[in-house]
Amino acid sequence: MKKIAIIGAGPTGLGAAFRLRELDHDNFKVFERNAYPGGLCASFRDAGGFTWDLGGHVIFSHYKYFDSFFDGVLKGGYFTHKRNAWIRSKGRWIPYPFQNHIKYLPKAIIDECVESLKEKRIKPRGRINFKEWLIYAFGKGFTRHFFSPYNLKVWGFPLEELSVDWVGERISRVQLKDVIRHLLSDTDLSDWGPNALFKYPAQGGVGEIFRKASVILDKKIRFNSEVVRIERKKKRIYFSDNSQETYEALINTGPLNKLLHFIDGCPKRLLSAANELRHNGVFVVGIGIQRPCPSDKCWMYFPDSNSPFFRVTYLSNYSPRNVPDSNKYYSLLCESAYSKYKKEKKSEILNNTIKGLINSGIIGKFEKKHIVSTFVFDIDYAYPIPTIKRDMALREIQPALEKMGIYSRGRFGSWRYEIGNTDHSFLQGKEVIDRLVNNTRERVWGNG
Ligand SMILES: Cc1cc2nc3c(=O)[nH]c(=O)nc-3n(C[C@H](O)[C@H](O)[C@H](O)COP(=O)(O)OP(=O)(O)OC[C@H]3O[C@@H](n4cnc5c(N)ncnc54)[C@H](O)[C@@H]3O)c2cc1C
Repeated sequence: MKKIAIIGAGPTGLGAAFRLRELDHDNFKVFERNAYPGGLCASFRDAGGFTWDLGGHVIFSHYKYFDSFFDGVLKGGYFTHKRNAWIRSKGRWIPYPFQNHIKYLPKAIIDECVESLKEKRIKPRGRINFKEWLIYAFGKGFTRHFFSPYNLKVWGFPLEELSVDWVGERISRVQLKDVIRHLLSDTDLSDWGPNALFKYPAQGGVGEIFRKASVILDKKIRFNSEVVRIERKKKRIYFSDNSQETYEALINTGPLNKLLHFIDGCPKRLLSAANELRHNGVFVVGIGIQRPCPSDKCWMYFPDSNSPFFRVTYLSNYSPRNVPDSNKYYSLLCESAYSKYKKEKKSEILNNTIKGLINSGIIGKFEKKHIVSTFVFDIDYAYPIPTIKRDMALREIQPALEKMGIYSRGRFGSWRYEIGNTDHSFLQGKEVIDRLVNNTRERVWGNG
C-alpha cells in the first residue's frame, strides 16, 4: 500500500483524503499549514456573531460524486437558492446576464451595443486573446460598456494577456436577433448558466462543508504543518518546525509556483516556466449592518470605477445564521481584486469599500453609523490567471513533477481557472487517487 502525503486540507486535499478512506487505503496523511480546514472555502465567525466566507461562494456542482459527498456531510443542512444576480452600472440595475438585458440601459448605450453587433466581425486568425475574442463575440459596444471594465476589475490583468480557453460555460453568448428580441420583450431572461440554482450550508458559512469533512477524517489531518522543503530523491517533506515525513506519492494542492521552490535542486527550466504563471489577490471585506436587509438580491457585479470591488454579496440572504439575528441585521461581502496592474492597499480597502458601497447606492450615507462589524481578509492567491502563456508553462512543469512522484492538483495546484471551482477541485483530488490506486484516467484534470 503506497504511502501518500497530501499537502493542503482544502477541497482538493480533502477530496483526495475522502477517496482514500472510501477505498480503505489507510496509509496517508494530510498536512495543512493553517489551524483550520477548507482553504479558500473556509469561513470565520466573528465575536459579534457574523459569519464571513472568503469571497462569495455558491455551490453548484457538475458531478454526482461531489453532490453525494455534499449531501453526506451536511445531511440536508443546506438551502437551495434561485440566483438573483444583478449588474450595477451607470446608476442603473441590470439583471444578470448583462447581454440579455440591455433594455435597462440608456438609449445611447443600447444603440451602440446593437449597432456594433450588426457590424461584420471577422474572427481573428490564429491564437486570439480575450480582448479580441470579446470584440469578435459581442462587438465593441458590449465590450466597452461591460465586458472590458468588468473583466479588468476581476482579473486585474490586461485582457490582451488572457486566453479564451476558460470561457466555456462562464459567459453567455448572444446573437443579434436574440438581443433585439430581448429588447422588445417584457420578460427578463435571468436563468442562464450552471449556477442559476445554487446550494449553501444552513449554518457555518460555506466552510461548514469542509469543517464537517475534516471531523470525519479526524486524525488523518495534521494542522499547523507547513511544508517548506521537498527532498525529491529521498521522497521526504520538511515542515517549518523542522519535522519531516516520508512519502511514496506526494499530492500538492498549494500554489504550483511555490511548490517548485520547495524542491531541492529543482531544474531551472521548471522554475523559469513557473515564472510565467500569473495570479491575482482579492481583498474580502465584510460589512455587518444593524438594520433589516433591504434587498432579496444574491449578488451584484460592479464594472464601474466608482468602487474598488467587482462583486458584492448579500451574505445574510444565503443563510439567516450568517448574522446574529436576521430580523435586525444583514451582511455584505465585497470582493476587490488586486495585482501589479490594479493596486489596492490593505490599509485603505475598508474605507474605500464603504465609499464604493455609498457611491453605488448599496448603502446610504446614513447607514455608516449602523455598521456594527467589519471583516478584512487578504487572499494573496485568489484567481489563477488563464494567460496565453500558461499552458506552455504547465506542459513543461506537470510531466516533470510526475516523474518525481509529485501530483499537483486543485485551483492553484493545477493553475487552471476553468477547473478551479469547489466541485472541480474536489473531483481533481478524488480522481488523482483513483489514478494512483486503481490506475484509472483523471477526467477533470485530464480534460475528460
Ligand atoms: C474569491 C473567490 C470566490 C470563489 N467563489 C466560488 C464559488 O462561488 N463557487 C465555487 O465552487 N468555487 C468558488 N471559488 C473557488 C474555491 O474556493 C476553490 O475551488 C477551492 O477552494 C480550491 O480548493 P483547493 O483545495 O484546490 O485549494 P485551496 O482552497 O487553496 O486549498 C489549498 C490548501 O493548501 C494549504 N497549503 C498551501 N500551501 C501549503 C503548504 N506549503 N503546506 C501545507 N499546506 C499548504 C492551504 O493553506 C489551503 O488550505 C472561489 C474562490 C475565490 C478565491
